[in-house]
Amino acid sequence: MFNSIGNVYCVGRNYGLHAAELGNGVPEKPMIFTKPTHSLVPMEGQIINVPGDMGDLHYEGELVLHIGKSYEKGRAVDQLVDKMALGIDFTLRDVQNQIKKNGHPWLPAKGFLNSAPITEFHAFPGLEEVKKREFTLEKNEKEVQRGNIQDMIFDLQAIVDFIGLHYGLGAGDLIYTGTPAGVGKVLNGDSLELFWNGQSWGKVSVNLNQ
Ligand code: ZN
Repeated sequence: MFNSIGNVYCVGRNYGLHAAELGNGVPEKPMIFTKPTHSLVPMEGQIINVPGDMGDLHYEGELVLHIGKSYEKGRAVDQLVDKMALGIDFTLRDVQNQIKKNGHPWLPAKGFLNSAPITEFHAFPGLEEVKKREFTLEKNEKEVQRGNIQDMIFDLQAIVDFIGLHYGLGAGDLIYTGTPAGVGKVLNGDSLELFWNGQSWGKVSVNLNQ
């Protein structure tokens, strides 16, 4: 399923209310990090193993863009993006807090195996259509997050421009575009399901490895 996937980019602190809930300031330019492709796992209703002995594990529900065409300056989101999905940017929050204090790279907090569950892909309907809809994350069948790209600090065009110019963006790359407010802890056995406009796109349950 992921043979054709290139780089997995992620945007940190891209919704104001989420930055605030973690006590972080709003960044002046997009905050980009990557995950290894090995972090990807399809959300097909199965149980996935994630670390259970490294402090709190948080879910972050996000809109994910699939790039269909190489970036060139001036290319619009609607030309670059061919598909979209929803995904979870799993984060070991205690590990991340320690890493931030030490000024170390985020990989141990964000890049572990199965840290990037992703739903099925759907055709990208165009920026204006995406703005009219919302995505939601349900934990154990209760809504915990709701996002609309209009609340982003850096909009999708700003994100693809920033990544394209600084790091490169090509067909097969993914971008996890940041999480809205409402992130929280995952407990053993929790189910996480992502919805686009009220329609389920994918689900997993978590097994916390001890
Ligand atoms: Zn995130």
